[in-house]
Amino acid sequence: MPLVTDSLFADQSPITPSSTAQGCLSKMAAALPANPDEAVIYHLRAGEQRILLNERIGDRFSLAWSGAIACTHCGRATKKSFAQGYCYPCFKRLAQCDTCIMKPETCHYHLGTCREPEWGEKHCFQPHIVYLANSSGLKVGITRKKQMPTRWLDQGAIQALPILEVDTRQQSGLVEMLFKERVADRTNWRTMLKGEVELLDLAAERDRLFTELADGLAQLREAHGADAIRTLHDQPFYFNYPVETFPSKVVSHNFDKNPQVEGVLQGVKGQYLMFDTGVINLRKFTGYEVLVS
Ligand SMILES: [Zn+2]
Repeated sequence: MPLVTDSLFADQSPITPSSTAQGCLSKMAAALPANPDEAVIYHLRAGEQRILLNERIGDRFSLAWSGAIACTHCGRATKKSFAQGYCYPCFKRLAQCDTCIMKPETCHYHLGTCREPEWGEKHCFQPHIVYLANSSGLKVGITRKKQMPTRWLDQGAIQALPILEVDTRQQSGLVEMLFKERVADRTNWRTMLKGEVELLDLAAERDRLFTELADGLAQLREAHGADAIRTLHDQPFYFNYPVETFPSKVVSHNFDKNPQVEGVLQGVKGQYLMFDTGVINLRKFTGYEVLVS
């Protein structure tokens, strides 16, 4: 198995921005601009280095995978990446890799079977938000309160509106299940990347759904306490992405098939880099050791 030469992952510490980088990929850092009319600010993160992508749009850009992958959690070399960045032992052991993270309504903490009860208490027994977003059309989603707006930016949403706040991740999953009767919970990434998404009136959609799902919401409040599921009266958020040209046909790059990805960088949206030669979902390759230039 190829050894990782640099298994360090970027953390929150300030890092000198650079124009080239070598190291293991982390999820891109996306931040809101000071002026909401401007584009989301993206940094590619490889090892301890960061590259500001907004100023590289229009330039030739390349990523070359060395063949090595490091587990995002333990840093050990792994032949294959599981659940977007973990080695197999971590994938089987960590609570954050359990199926209940993707399906929060199946939380089994109360049965005493949480893989890491302390992690669960810190991450799942925290206020969660149920939101409506527009990434490739109307969708419902959930996130930890602290993860706003990162979650929406990672999905390439052009609009988002928090609609309910609940006490736990499981409750957010139960509310989401109810909304899924009427609204999608997935992003069609091809549509999202083509940039042909129409703006929606999310406040009107929220009001419509609250009316249509009133019985279901009342039942959930009855089961979990009237106070556990709280209605929010927020204003929608709007997001612009640094995209010069949207692809007319979406072809994707994959390091596992071709370790060299290059082209003119035309934009960044969600966790995707858009080249004139195709797109790549960098999140999928978390932990891959790359040389960026
Ligand atoms: Zn690991």
